[in-house]
Amino acid sequence: MNIVLLGAPGAGKGTQGQRLVEEFGFAHISTGDMLRAAVKANSELGQKAKSYMDAGQLVPDELIIDLVKERISQPDAAEGSMLDGFPRNIAQAEALDAALAEMGRELDGALLVDVAADVIVSRLSSRRTCRACGFTGSDKHEVCPRCGGEMYQRDDDKPETIKNRLDVYESQTAPLVSYYKEQGKLWAVDGDRPVDEVYADVKKALSL
Ligand code: AMP
Repeated sequence: MNIVLLGAPGAGKGTQGQRLVEEFGFAHISTGDMLRAAVKANSELGQKAKSYMDAGQLVPDELIIDLVKERISQPDAAEGSMLDGFPRNIAQAEALDAALAEMGRELDGALLVDVAADVIVSRLSSRRTCRACGFTGSDKHEVCPRCGGEMYQRDDDKPETIKNRLDVYESQTAPLVSYYKEQGKLWAVDGDRPVDEVYADVKKALSL
Protein backbone atom coordinates (compact mmCIF):
# COMPACT_ATOMS: atom_id res chain seq x y z
CA MET A 1 0.00 0.00 0.00
CA ASN A 2 1.26 3.48 -0.81
CA ILE A 3 -0.34 6.13 1.36
CA VAL A 4 0.07 9.84 1.88
CA LEU A 5 -0.70 11.32 5.31
CA LEU A 6 -2.31 14.74 5.09
CA GLY A 7 -3.12 17.23 7.82
CA ALA A 8 -2.03 20.51 9.33
CA PRO A 9 1.18 20.55 11.38
CA GLY A 10 0.24 19.16 14.79
CA ALA A 11 -2.87 17.33 13.55
CA GLY A 12 -1.35 14.06 14.73
CA LYS A 13 -0.42 12.53 11.38
CA GLY A 14 3.10 11.69 12.59
CA THR A 15 1.71 9.92 15.67
CA GLN A 16 -0.81 7.95 13.61
CA GLY A 17 1.94 7.17 11.12
CA GLN A 18 4.22 5.82 13.85
CA ARG A 19 1.41 3.54 15.04
CA LEU A 20 0.76 2.17 11.54
CA VAL A 21 4.45 1.52 11.06
CA GLU A 22 4.73 -0.31 14.39
CA GLU A 23 1.69 -2.49 13.64
CA PHE A 24 1.99 -3.07 9.89
CA GLY A 25 5.63 -2.36 9.07
CA PHE A 26 5.16 0.18 6.28
CA ALA A 27 8.25 2.19 5.43
CA HIS A 28 7.60 5.49 7.22
CA ILE A 29 8.94 8.29 5.08
CA SER A 30 8.83 11.58 6.94
CA THR A 31 10.41 14.41 4.99
CA GLY A 32 10.47 16.57 8.15
CA ASP A 33 12.48 13.87 9.98
CA MET A 34 14.80 13.47 6.98
CA LEU A 35 15.42 17.21 6.85
CA ARG A 36 15.96 17.49 10.62
CA ALA A 37 18.53 14.65 10.38
CA ALA A 38 20.26 16.52 7.53
CA VAL A 39 20.38 19.72 9.61
CA LYS A 40 21.77 17.81 12.61
CA ALA A 41 24.46 16.24 10.41
CA ASN A 42 25.17 19.68 8.91
CA SER A 43 25.11 18.12 5.43
CA GLU A 44 24.85 20.27 2.29
CA LEU A 45 21.09 19.60 2.19
CA GLY A 46 20.79 20.49 5.87
CA GLN A 47 22.62 23.77 5.38
CA LYS A 48 20.35 24.70 2.47
CA ALA A 49 17.14 23.66 4.27
CA LYS A 50 17.72 25.14 7.73
CA SER A 51 16.74 28.75 7.14
CA TYR A 52 13.45 27.76 5.46
CA MET A 53 12.62 25.35 8.27
CA ASP A 54 13.41 27.86 11.01
CA ALA A 55 11.13 30.38 9.31
CA GLY A 56 8.28 27.85 8.96
CA GLN A 57 8.49 28.05 5.14
CA LEU A 58 8.62 25.14 2.71
CA VAL A 59 12.01 24.00 1.52
CA PRO A 60 12.26 24.46 -2.31
CA ASP A 61 10.69 21.60 -4.30
CA GLU A 62 13.95 20.77 -6.09
CA LEU A 63 15.61 19.88 -2.78
CA ILE A 64 12.84 17.65 -1.58
CA ILE A 65 11.47 15.87 -4.66
CA ASP A 66 14.71 14.05 -5.54
CA LEU A 67 15.18 13.09 -1.90
CA VAL A 68 11.77 11.43 -1.82
CA LYS A 69 12.21 9.75 -5.23
CA GLU A 70 15.46 8.21 -4.02
CA ARG A 71 13.85 7.10 -0.74
CA ILE A 72 10.77 5.43 -2.28
CA SER A 73 12.99 3.45 -4.64
CA GLN A 74 14.80 1.76 -1.73
CA PRO A 75 13.98 -1.93 -1.09
CA ASP A 76 12.06 -1.41 2.17
CA ALA A 77 9.59 0.86 0.36
CA ALA A 78 8.84 -1.64 -2.41
CA GLU A 79 6.15 -3.39 -0.34
CA GLY A 80 4.49 -0.16 0.61
CA SER A 81 5.26 3.24 1.95
CA MET A 82 3.65 5.86 4.09
CA LEU A 83 4.60 9.39 3.23
CA ASP A 84 4.36 11.85 6.11
CA GLY A 85 4.86 15.52 5.29
CA PHE A 86 5.12 14.95 1.53
CA PRO A 87 3.60 16.12 -0.75
CA ARG A 88 3.16 19.65 0.64
CA ASN A 89 1.90 21.29 -2.56
CA ILE A 90 0.38 20.37 -5.92
CA ALA A 91 3.74 20.32 -7.76
CA GLN A 92 5.07 17.76 -5.27
CA ALA A 93 1.86 15.68 -5.58
CA GLU A 94 2.22 15.58 -9.37
CA ALA A 95 5.92 14.67 -9.07
CA LEU A 96 5.00 11.84 -6.71
CA ASP A 97 2.33 10.47 -9.08
CA ALA A 98 4.86 10.54 -11.92
CA ALA A 99 7.63 8.90 -9.88
CA LEU A 100 5.34 6.07 -8.71
CA ALA A 101 4.05 5.55 -12.26
CA GLU A 102 7.64 5.23 -13.50
CA MET A 103 8.13 2.43 -10.98
CA GLY A 104 4.86 0.75 -12.04
CA ARG A 105 3.26 1.70 -8.74
CA GLU A 106 0.31 3.88 -7.81
CA LEU A 107 -0.83 5.84 -4.80
CA ASP A 108 -3.67 4.05 -3.00
CA GLY A 109 -4.87 7.21 -1.37
CA ALA A 110 -4.38 10.08 1.03
CA LEU A 111 -5.46 9.98 4.64
CA LEU A 112 -6.50 13.33 6.06
CA VAL A 113 -6.22 13.74 9.83
CA ASP A 114 -8.59 16.65 10.27
CA VAL A 115 -8.26 19.05 13.23
CA ALA A 116 -9.59 22.62 13.67
CA ALA A 117 -7.06 25.48 13.55
CA ASP A 118 -7.50 26.66 17.17
CA VAL A 119 -6.79 23.14 18.48
CA ILE A 120 -3.68 23.00 16.29
CA VAL A 121 -2.16 26.16 17.77
CA SER A 122 -2.47 24.93 21.36
CA ARG A 123 -1.16 21.45 20.42
CA LEU A 124 1.89 22.80 18.62
CA SER A 125 2.80 25.22 21.43
CA SER A 126 2.87 22.39 23.98
CA ARG A 127 4.45 19.80 21.66
CA ARG A 128 7.83 18.37 22.69
CA THR A 129 9.95 15.99 20.61
CA CYS A 130 12.54 13.42 21.72
CA ARG A 131 16.04 14.40 20.66
CA ALA A 132 17.12 10.75 20.48
CA CYS A 133 14.25 8.83 18.83
CA GLY A 134 11.93 11.54 17.45
CA PHE A 135 8.95 10.49 19.62
CA THR A 136 6.30 13.21 19.72
CA GLY A 137 4.93 14.07 23.16
CA SER A 138 3.88 17.16 25.09
CA ASP A 139 5.27 19.50 27.74
CA LYS A 140 3.96 17.00 30.29
CA HIS A 141 6.78 14.62 29.31
CA GLU A 142 10.01 15.51 31.09
CA VAL A 143 11.81 12.61 29.44
CA CYS A 144 10.85 10.48 26.43
CA PRO A 145 8.38 7.76 27.53
CA ARG A 146 9.69 5.52 24.74
CA CYS A 147 13.48 5.70 25.14
CA GLY A 148 14.20 7.98 28.13
CA GLY A 149 15.82 10.59 25.86
CA GLU A 150 15.74 14.35 26.31
CA MET A 151 12.51 16.08 25.21
CA TYR A 152 12.92 19.46 23.51
CA GLN A 153 10.80 22.07 21.74
CA ARG A 154 11.45 22.18 18.00
CA ASP A 155 12.48 25.68 16.88
CA ASP A 156 9.57 25.68 14.48
CA ASP A 157 7.08 24.88 17.29
CA LYS A 158 7.79 28.26 18.87
CA PRO A 159 4.86 30.74 18.70
CA GLU A 160 6.43 33.10 16.16
CA THR A 161 6.89 30.26 13.63
CA ILE A 162 3.62 28.42 14.22
CA LYS A 163 1.57 31.11 12.48
CA ASN A 164 3.77 30.95 9.37
CA ARG A 165 3.49 27.17 9.23
CA LEU A 166 -0.30 27.32 9.45
CA ASP A 167 -0.45 30.02 6.76
CA VAL A 168 1.75 27.88 4.52
CA TYR A 169 -0.49 24.87 5.20
CA GLU A 170 -3.66 26.77 4.28
CA SER A 171 -2.28 28.33 1.11
CA GLN A 172 -0.10 25.51 -0.27
CA THR A 173 -0.96 22.16 1.33
CA ALA A 174 -4.73 22.33 1.97
CA PRO A 175 -5.46 22.36 -1.82
CA LEU A 176 -4.21 18.75 -1.84
CA VAL A 177 -7.42 17.73 -0.10
CA SER A 178 -9.39 18.63 -3.25
CA TYR A 179 -6.64 17.20 -5.47
CA TYR A 180 -7.06 13.73 -3.93
CA LYS A 181 -10.83 14.04 -3.44
CA GLU A 182 -11.33 14.68 -7.15
CA GLN A 183 -9.43 11.47 -7.89
CA GLY A 184 -11.62 9.53 -5.42
CA LYS A 185 -8.52 8.96 -3.29
CA LEU A 186 -9.25 10.76 -0.04
CA TRP A 187 -10.02 9.22 3.33
CA ALA A 188 -10.74 11.64 6.19
CA VAL A 189 -10.78 11.02 9.94
CA ASP A 190 -11.64 13.43 12.75
CA GLY A 191 -8.31 13.97 14.54
CA ASP A 192 -9.67 15.96 17.47
CA ARG A 193 -10.13 12.93 19.73
CA PRO A 194 -7.93 10.69 21.89
CA VAL A 195 -5.10 9.06 19.93
CA ASP A 196 -6.49 5.51 20.29
CA GLU A 197 -9.90 6.49 18.93
CA VAL A 198 -8.35 8.29 15.97
CA TYR A 199 -6.18 5.25 15.30
CA ALA A 200 -9.21 2.92 15.29
CA ASP A 201 -10.82 5.15 12.65
CA VAL A 202 -7.60 5.30 10.64
CA LYS A 203 -7.48 1.52 10.41
CA LYS A 204 -11.16 1.39 9.45
CA ALA A 205 -10.62 4.00 6.75
CA LEU A 206 -7.69 2.06 5.33
CA SER A 207 -9.54 -1.28 5.65
CA LEU A 208 -6.72 -2.65 7.81
P1 AMP B 1 7.32 18.64 9.39
O1 AMP B 1 8.07 17.86 10.42
O2 AMP B 1 6.68 17.73 8.36
O3 AMP B 1 6.34 19.62 9.99
O4 AMP B 1 8.40 19.50 8.55
C1 AMP B 1 9.19 20.48 9.18
C2 AMP B 1 9.69 21.49 8.15
O5 AMP B 1 10.47 20.80 7.15
C3 AMP B 1 8.59 22.18 7.36
O6 AMP B 1 8.07 23.33 8.04
C4 AMP B 1 9.34 22.57 6.08
O7 AMP B 1 10.21 23.67 6.30
C5 AMP B 1 10.23 21.36 5.85
N1 AMP B 1 9.55 20.33 5.03
C6 AMP B 1 9.16 19.08 5.41
N2 AMP B 1 8.60 18.41 4.39
C7 AMP B 1 8.61 19.27 3.33
C8 AMP B 1 8.16 19.18 1.98
N3 AMP B 1 7.54 18.08 1.52
N4 AMP B 1 8.36 20.25 1.18
C9 AMP B 1 8.97 21.36 1.62
N5 AMP B 1 9.40 21.53 2.88
C10 AMP B 1 9.24 20.48 3.74
